[in-house]
Amino acid sequence: EAVFQSDIGALLEQVGTGKESLSFMKRRIRRLAAQWASAARRLDEKLRSHWRDQKKILVHIGFLTEESGDVFSPKVLKGGPLGEMVQWADIVTALHVLGHNVKISVSLKELHGFLGVPPGRGSCPLTGALPFDLIYTDYHGLQQMKQHMGLSLRKHKCHIRVIDTFGTEPAYNHEEYATLHGYRTNWGYWNLHGQQYMTMFPHTPDNSFMGFVAEELNETERLYIQRNKVNNMAVVYGKDASMWKVSKDKEKFLAVLNRYMEIHGTVYYEAQRPPEVPAFVKNHGLLPQQELQQLLRKAKLFIGFGFPYEGPAPLEAIANGCIFLQPKFNPARSSLNHEFFRGKPTSRKVSSQHPYAEQYIGKPHVITIDYNNSEEFDAAIREIMKINDFCSPEVPFPPVNSSEALLERLFIRQPDSRVLSWASSSMSFPAWPPLAALRLLTSLQGQSCVEACQSKGLICEPAFYRFINIKEAFSALGFQCEGVESEMNHLFPAFSTEHGECCLQVDPLLFSCAGSSAKHQRLCPCRDHREGQVALCKECL
Ligand code: UDP
Repeated sequence: EAVFQSDIGALLEQVGTGKESLSFMKRRIRRLAAQWASAARRLDEKLRSHWRDQKKILVHIGFLTEESGDVFSPKVLKGGPLGEMVQWADIVTALHVLGHNVKISVSLKELHGFLGVPPGRGSCPLTGALPFDLIYTDYHGLQQMKQHMGLSLRKHKCHIRVIDTFGTEPAYNHEEYATLHGYRTNWGYWNLHGQQYMTMFPHTPDNSFMGFVAEELNETERLYIQRNKVNNMAVVYGKDASMWKVSKDKEKFLAVLNRYMEIHGTVYYEAQRPPEVPAFVKNHGLLPQQELQQLLRKAKLFIGFGFPYEGPAPLEAIANGCIFLQPKFNPARSSLNHEFFRGKPTSRKVSSQHPYAEQYIGKPHVITIDYNNSEEFDAAIREIMKINDFCSPEVPFPPVNSSEALLERLFIRQPDSRVLSWASSSMSFPAWPPLAALRLLTSLQGQSCVEACQSKGLICEPAFYRFINIKEAFSALGFQCEGVESEMNHLFPAFSTEHGECCLQVDPLLFSCAGSSAKHQRLCPCRDHREGQVALCKECL
C-alpha cells in the first residue's frame, strides 16, 4: 500500500546533479516541501478509507536528455523557459508524496538501465514484463523509448503517460485519420488514449489535466501582502530581452504605463551588456523564483506583452495579489495561423497570451484587452490605478494550482487501465465518472463540445461518448434523421445540418471534445464539475 511521505530527502537524491535544470528543480522541491507536507496531511485525512497501491514509476524527462539536444538546461540561469521544469518538479514531488516508488532518468543511459537493458547493447528491444507500473515521459522521451523498446512499446503502451504542455487532440493522435485528413504533425499520431496526454492547463478534456502548483499563502502572509502592496508598481512578464525587443509599439505602451506606474522587469542580462529595455525600467535581472515571488507580493500589476504563452508566472502573480493585464489576440492564434503553434498537435485557438487566466479567472484579477487600441490600453491602466482594495482578503488563489488539488488529480483522475479500456469497451463496462453525471447537449454549428459544455457551466466528458453514440440520442434531442451514417470522423456523433443526416462515430479513439464544423451540430456529453477541480464531478470521488 502507498503511504503518504513528506520527507523529500530520497526524492532529492533521485533528481541527481550535473545540470542547471536539475538544480532549479531541486531548489523548487526544497522550497515547497512544507506546502506539500501539509497538503499530504489534508488529503490523507480525506482519503482515510481508500486503499492506494504503491506503484513503481519511472519518470523519464526526454527534453532534458543530451540525446534530444537539451537546449533548456544551459539557459536556466539565462532567461530561458522554466515552465516545463516547474511542472516536472511538481509532478515528481506529487508522485513521491503520494508514496510511490519513483525513479528519475534524464539520459538514455539511465533509461536503458532502468528498463533492464545494459548500456552498450544498442536498441535491443525490451522483452518480457515492464519493470514499472507507469512511465511518465514527454514526446522526446516517447521517441527514445520507441527506439529502445522497438515493437514491444506497443505492448506496454497503456503504462505510458505523456506530459504534453499544449495538448494533443484525438484527430492528431489517430495515426490513420491524421494521415488521411491532414492532421499529421511531427509530434502526434501515437494512437495513445487521449487521457494519456497530460497538459499544463485544462485545454481540452480529451486530455488529462495535470497542471502545476503555485505557492500557497498562510493568513499572516496574506495580511502582509495586503499591507505592503505598492499602488503604482508594475512588473513586466518576460525574462528574456527578446520578449522586450521593444518594437516601436511596445515602447509606446511602456511609456504610457510609465506615466502612471513604476515599471519593474526581471530580464536576464550579462554584466558587460545591459539588457535592451527602456532606461525608465527598473530591471532586477533574472531572479530566483523565491525573489520573484517577493517582488510580486509588492506589485499591483503584472503586465504581459504577448509572449510567452500560457506560462506559470501569471498564476503566481495572481496568487500573490497582482492584477494580470494581457493582450487579446484577434484573430486568435493557433497551429493553423501562427508560427509558434505550427506543428503542434492541436487546433486550439489561443485567444490571448493566457487564455486560462482569461477564461477561468477573469475580471477583476485578469484584464484582457486589445493592445492595438491605445485608448483602451490607457483606460485600463487608469482603471487599475483606481482600484485600491485589489488584494482582498480572498486573494484569488487558483484552487486547481494548490498542492492538494494536484495530488488529488494524480490519485483520482489518473487514467488507469479501467479508463483506458474505453476504446475497446462495451456498453456494459461500468462508467467512470458515474453515468448519472451525464448532461447531453448539442453544440451550435461551428462550436466544439469543449465550448458547448462550457457555455452551460459544464465540462465535456469524453468518457461518456460511448453512451451517446447511438441513434436514440438524436431523437432524444429532437433531431429527425433523414438517414444514419457511421464514419471515422472526430466530430461525430453529430447532426449534419446540410443533409439532415445523423452521423455516428465508428472509432472510439476518435471521440473528441475538441473540433467543430460549420456544417455540423455535435452531440456533446457534458457533466458538472467541482469548483476549482474540473477533473472531478460534484458527486464523484
Ligand atoms: N521565473 C523566475 N525568475 C524570474 C522570472 C520567472 O524564477 O525572474 C519563474 C517563474 O516563477 C515561473 C517560471 O519562471 O514559475 C516560468 O515562467 P514563465 O511563465 O515565464 O514561463 P516559461 O516561458 O518560462 O515556461
